[in-house]
Amino acid sequence: MKNLIMVVEDEEAIGLMLKYNLEKEGYDVLVQSRGSRAIADAEKYQPSVILLDWMLPEISGVEICKLIRSKPDIKNIPIIMLTAKGEEEDKVRGLDAGADDYVTKPFSVPELMARVKSQLRRAPEPQTEAELVFEDIRMDLIEKKVFRGDTYIHLGPTEFRLLKMLMENPGKVFSREFLLKNVWGNNIYVESRTVDVHIRRLRRALNQYGQDYIRTVRATGYAIDINPQADTSDDTD
Ligand code: CA
Repeated sequence: MKNLIMVVEDEEAIGLMLKYNLEKEGYDVLVQSRGSRAIADAEKYQPSVILLDWMLPEISGVEICKLIRSKPDIKNIPIIMLTAKGEEEDKVRGLDAGADDYVTKPFSVPELMARVKSQLRRAPEPQTEAELVFEDIRMDLIEKKVFRGDTYIHLGPTEFRLLKMLMENPGKVFSREFLLKNVWGNNIYVESRTVDVHIRRLRRALNQYGQDYIRTVRATGYAIDINPQADTSDDTD
């Protein structure tokens, strides 16, 4: 799974340069030139690291940083602030606002790449546990088998990966775009409707033996939850 780096930068030339260099390092890159959309994008795509320009026309980088730190679903994403040279005071304010690191423009590309890597190393490690458990659903990650109580449930590989993503983050709502990117990967073209099809298969397999814990959040996506809302009308057959 490739790490996604989000760049919030209104200067097109810098945005493109960062995109080019980050992609060369093997990352997926999302450039958002409008600061006002940065929060929504971060929530939707859950990037691994955010490179955040200090000077943006609509809302400052510092304000964005504070907002990100106030939102439970994105507050732990590492943020590297990009700012003009020599503004030492900005550095302090940026770090106060919750930035993890700080790079001054004009920056050297290798240095910035090293900073990105260092933030990725600090990011939470992906699940390495042997087992995931949610209520009566148990995933054996070594044998790649799913059980409900004592009953073995056969799942296709896509359903297995979908369920794993949901069970690693109970209660968290995943957008279809995020699931497509992280369950199917980037290189395959699939439409977001495909997610619904596989969720339906997953439900069908799991729900023969117990309660439906998969929650459909209209216009947003899916979560696994102990109190699924009744909003499943678009997923029933
Ligand atoms: Ca700028």
